[in-house]
Amino acid sequence: MKAPAKSSGSSSRVASTAPSRAAAPGESKGGDLFALLAEHTHEQVSFYYDEACGYRGIIAIHDTRLGPALGGTRFWNYHDDREALVDALRLARGMTYKAAVAGLNLGGGKSVILGDNRITRREAIFRAHGRHVESLGGRYITAEDVGTSTADMEFIRAETEHVTGLLGKSGDPSPVTAYGVYRGIKACARVRYGSDDLSGKVVAVQGCGHVGYSLIKLLHEDGARLIVTDIDAQRVKSVVEDFGASAVATDAIYAQQANIFAPCALGAIINDDTLPQLKVDIVAGAANNQLAEDRHGQELESQGILYAPDYVINGGGLINVNAELHGWTLERARNKAGEIYDSILRVFDIAREERIPSYLAADRLAEERITMVAKVRQNFV
Ligand code: NAD
Repeated sequence: MKAPAKSSGSSSRVASTAPSRAAAPGESKGGDLFALLAEHTHEQVSFYYDEACGYRGIIAIHDTRLGPALGGTRFWNYHDDREALVDALRLARGMTYKAAVAGLNLGGGKSVILGDNRITRREAIFRAHGRHVESLGGRYITAEDVGTSTADMEFIRAETEHVTGLLGKSGDPSPVTAYGVYRGIKACARVRYGSDDLSGKVVAVQGCGHVGYSLIKLLHEDGARLIVTDIDAQRVKSVVEDFGASAVATDAIYAQQANIFAPCALGAIINDDTLPQLKVDIVAGAANNQLAEDRHGQELESQGILYAPDYVINGGGLINVNAELHGWTLERARNKAGEIYDSILRVFDIAREERIPSYLAADRLAEERITMVAKVRQNFV
């Protein structure tokens, strides 16, 4: 793409990429950019190009009714600009919902940098991104995501204060995430079995990484029996030795006779291939985007499997970021993640009341809170 010299972030609440000639109100000329924003009511999109270093970045702000939009920076080699924009829009919207159900005063945003994330000369790119973030005056706060590291966040920090996930700050979010997932699993057990006691329950865990390991530890301490898998043999060995877990092959995890399946590795693992194999009562784990498609959430429902929506149960990671922003102690972050128990119960209440699958009930819970807070704040004080 040959973009015009540096187009700065917009200060208006609409996209900064203007159509080539004036369009009538409601009309979308010069492509379907505004239609894309209108589809999920995004507030703002900002494009920024830095000719000197070749930085090309997009920041999407979905909703700031609860607070500044927060979301990581993804550095990715997209096929084209449109794919990058759509990714930013989709991810920003997801952040709005995640922050809302986690009870945080944050909105949803996300940014993408277009290019090869393996580049070694990173300072100029990330400082340009920092200037882009700064140009939005605090409406957007960034953090790490795919293709970026804490060291990159330090370059951003040289240009703006609106960045989290810095070296030596809140640190590894996984223990807080795992605690939230553990509390969410207990809430599911309460709904399904009438008690949140996990002793004697069999939990099949996919992925013994950062979150998986901490989760397995908590479940083990609660008396659960564990079946585990990972593509990394060393990680499997650790949980077998430390917590007496039974190991199975990676593709055997779906068909285990267990109470609970906890996906803590990959996205899209609830799909047409895995659904017929599941013999569990509950699917509840840390992985992002567990449903390959929405219809698979409906299918879980039809199979009588209770599904804890991923972005509700894994909200501990975002809670940890919020803790860094506001200087919370680890204990406070952990307590907040513990509230995921109540959020999961509320999701299943809404699902029952409205006769909808849990993944849709989670969206309702988020929308309820955003609407409620927006109403409370509409007067002049
Ligand atoms: P991680 O990389 O530390 O662990 C993932 C583990 O999954 C690794 O041990 C990896 O070897 C294993 N794995 C990969 N492919 C596999 C396969 N096909 N079968 C079995 N195991 C496989 O990552 P993490 O930080 O523990 O995160 C786990 C999941 O939770 C991810 O989906 C992540 O997006 C999500 N999540 C993490 C956090 C967090 O705080 N770390 C927060 C929210 C969501």
